[in-house]
Amino acid sequence: MSTQMSTACTCSAGGSARLAAYREKWAALFPDKLSMGFANGVVSNPYCPQCRFCCGPQEETEPFPMALLDSQVSARTKDDFYLLDEHTAALDQRGCRALGPCGCRLDNALRPFACNIFPYVLVNGRLYLYKVCPASLFAEEDEARSLGRQVHAWLASLPEADVRRISITRSCQDLADKYLDLGLAPLC
Ligand code: SF4
Ligand code: SF4
Repeated sequence: MSTQMSTACTCSAGGSARLAAYREKWAALFPDKLSMGFANGVVSNPYCPQCRFCCGPQEETEPFPMALLDSQVSARTKDDFYLLDEHTAALDQRGCRALGPCGCRLDNALRPFACNIFPYVLVNGRLYLYKVCPASLFAEEDEARSLGRQVHAWLASLPEADVRRISITRSCQDLADKYLDLGLAPLC
């Protein structure tokens, strides 16, 4: 039987309480439950246009790095992103520079891969689900895992150097609080 994403099993008490608060917040904002999809390297998430939570100012002090592949770097890059370096966009307490009044201003081809597959996140070569996202919190766990396997298969088809570049690191506490390990084979 399908079950909704747990807010208790792998979380610290603080993380669990925070997820419960987000669940309440998203439930008020999104009375209708919607489903994600995946095609051509992009997760479609029908909650995004109204949500925009992960593109706006972040509460964490540590920037969220979003790797850019060579094909995504050009003279316009510095106008589209706050940059940690030439190949790494940053999402931080200022939010993302690419966020406009109607959502992300960028085409999928220019968006960091991290954005195109979010709320699936590659951390230390393993695929996780970012549990704070409303699409994750409201998903049936078997559906979220099934979509995760599709994202995983697609990532596995990319050159390993690109996968290594896309992979980020997170603190153990952050991982335990906000991310679900999908239990899939490491990708790099
Ligand atoms: S948190 Fe989830 S629904 Fe909200 S903008 Fe990010 S990916 Fe979209
Ligand atoms: S590039 Fe677009 S999708 Fe990615 S964080 Fe910035 S605004 Fe959001």
